[in-house]
Amino acid sequence: MAQQVQLADFEMGRTLGCGSFGRVKFAKYKPDGKFYAVKFMKKHEIIKLKQVDHINNEKRLMAQISYPFVVNMMGYCKDEHFVYIVMESINGGELFTHLRRARKFSDEQSKFYALQVAAAFAHIHSKNIIHRDLKPENILMLPNGYSKLTDFGFAKIIEPGTRTYTLCGTPEYIAPEVLLNKGHGKPVDWWTLGILIYEMICGQPPFCDEDPMGIYQKILAGKVYFPKYFDKNAKALVKKLLVADLSKRFGNLKDGSADILKHKWFESYELSKLEAFEVPAPYKPSMKDENDTSNYEDIPDSKEPPPAVAASQDPFLDW
Ligand code: ATP
Ligand code: MG
Repeated sequence: MAQQVQLADFEMGRTLGCGSFGRVKFAKYKPDGKFYAVKFMKKHEIIKLKQVDHINNEKRLMAQISYPFVVNMMGYCKDEHFVYIVMESINGGELFTHLRRARKFSDEQSKFYALQVAAAFAHIHSKNIIHRDLKPENILMLPNGYSKLTDFGFAKIIEPGTRTYTLCGTPEYIAPEVLLNKGHGKPVDWWTLGILIYEMICGQPPFCDEDPMGIYQKILAGKVYFPKYFDKNAKALVKKLLVADLSKRFGNLKDGSADILKHKWFESYELSKLEAFEVPAPYKPSMKDENDTSNYEDIPDSKEPPPAVAASQDPFLDW
């Protein structure tokens, strides 16, 4: 269970990543001697960019989720400059880094991560939570070669049957219904899974352009080119996910996520065995030991603290 923690109990280490509102640092929690990842988010920035609801959601929703393929939250706290989310530290690096290094993943490796992401979506959707920001930067690798979904900064609770209207996500991963501002829900996550599978197998997303407008036009045109090496079952699944018509998109049909989790492409894996980490991973990040974070790029340290937010104006009430 996530709980309020004391910032003074952490010994901050190196920066693992940079986010929109600050950085994520590797830190030792003195009471248990273990290492965690602490996400710093500048209060002042969050307020200026009107993202208070998103950040409050991030904390609240993340605390509700406990699943092998989702980064687990351990605690939270705040001071006058930042709000902090303390998570388990996933030390193998971003899937993004491994994908760019390898250029593309094998069918086997792509399938291994795709099934974990699909299962993570099925799990959070069962709690009526949508993620809305899938991309290879938001999937982190465990030393054992498994993957975990992170970054609930855009996540939202969605009452069954209702829709939400905010434009968010990375251009290449935006679903057509989001672009058309038609209102969106759980099916956006399934669209982004289709984009991810394609990007892992081909090394680049299906709708690419130097200019975001060009990307959006291609998304709306919906033409996907599949190279010959694309496995036929993987292609069949991606074609069912990258469907603009919501009444025909996989994940949104009468059998819900089962159409995806039980898809022929995933036949060689048994999800319950994956959930228990019983299946050896097709690839493991190279690491000296469990606490080696060298798969995360070096990011220079921050200088000045950001402006403080007066307690009387603090909108982060339950941190
Ligand atoms: P953005 O909006 O740019 O996607 P964000 O502000 O929402 O970012 P996150 O995606 O949560 O921030 O974290 C930023 C980066 O920090 C990640 O891409 C990853 O490199 C690193 N990171 C985040 N969480 C962890 C974790 N639990 N363990 C290790 N590294 C992490
Ligand atoms: Mg992120």
